[in-house]
Amino acid sequence: MQTPFKKRVAVIGAGIAGLSCASRLQEMGFDVEVFEKSRGPSGRMSTRQGNGWAADHGAQYFTARDPLFLHNLKAWIEGGVVSSWHPKIGLFEDGQWHESSSDEKRYVANPGMNALGKFLAGDLIVHLNQTIDQLISIKDQWQLSSKESGPINSTFNYIILAIPAPQVVALAKKLPSEVESVCAAVDMDGCWTVIARFNEKPPFPFDATFVNGEIISWICRNQSKPDRSGKESWTIHASPSWSQENIELDAADVNRQLLECARNLGLDCRGAEISTHRWRYASGYSKANPEFIFIPKFYLGLCGDWLNGGRVEGAWLSGRKLADQIIGTN
Ligand code: FAD
Repeated sequence: MQTPFKKRVAVIGAGIAGLSCASRLQEMGFDVEVFEKSRGPSGRMSTRQGNGWAADHGAQYFTARDPLFLHNLKAWIEGGVVSSWHPKIGLFEDGQWHESSSDEKRYVANPGMNALGKFLAGDLIVHLNQTIDQLISIKDQWQLSSKESGPINSTFNYIILAIPAPQVVALAKKLPSEVESVCAAVDMDGCWTVIARFNEKPPFPFDATFVNGEIISWICRNQSKPDRSGKESWTIHASPSWSQENIELDAADVNRQLLECARNLGLDCRGAEISTHRWRYASGYSKANPEFIFIPKFYLGLCGDWLNGGRVEGAWLSGRKLADQIIGTN
């Protein structure tokens, strides 16, 4: 189906949800531009790189259950963007290690988790380093302004907010009541992440571990994923509750506490190069699970993981379903 004339859409946020929405709308004939505050696309599904190393420091892998998502996953696998990942997984619980017997299928993008975002951004116009800080609705048109460039010299028929709930509240000074109530019911926790780089593989018995009851919740060897090269790098995530309680802590203190916990768990990072990252809004979602929000009278849409279960698959589906809803009304 083609729209009779090209409606212009601005998508704020080039995470998986925004890119899924934008690419579907463009495919169906809309004129789409994406605005992203970071240096690259993919949002929380991202990979940090340094001199001779790379590490996935946001989403670690994703699962797939929905038929529409599975259908697209098949194409990404055939295109070499995504592969399945078969780590030896440990589970630390009640002070004891177990090897996980889970047969869950896990997928990763290659050569880093940000590769899927880069792939989805492929044919789209994505304006990077553009933090949208103002939305102005004049008659039936939307205008934007960014922190870096001031007023954007275009108008749009639709605006899509593909950003976490607290950032929606910060950006839109006055929200329609239906959006306000959904945002108000979402608490998002932060996540402190430490990346440790070693000269050689440390003696740790698992590729990845879920940790319960400690301040760390996840440890993962990046090189256990397909197509990873460079220095031996390990990603450590603090638990959501500890991260949120300590979100304003100094990075040096975070490192000290997390690395001590890692050492007690058997991963000794003394001598490793360390980087730290704070995700201010890492996880959390609406219990109402609306999938997406579309308010036709304001030509306004919202999508993101927080509206649909809080993970990569939910984020992609949220963007796709919002796009299909908009397409259906044109
Ligand atoms: P985001 O990825 O947050 O995208 C929003 C984008 O909007 C960002 O790029 C941001 O920079 C941009 N933005 C925000 N405000 C503005 C503005 N004003 N102007 C312009 N741009 C703006 N999921 C899994 O499925 N499996 C996992 O193992 C997993 N592990 C995780 C571990 C961590 C540490 C984190 C942080 C997340 C993890 N997740 C995991 C969750 C997963 O990453 C998210 O569900 C998914 O990536 C969210 O995509 P999104 O597009 O909804 O949001």
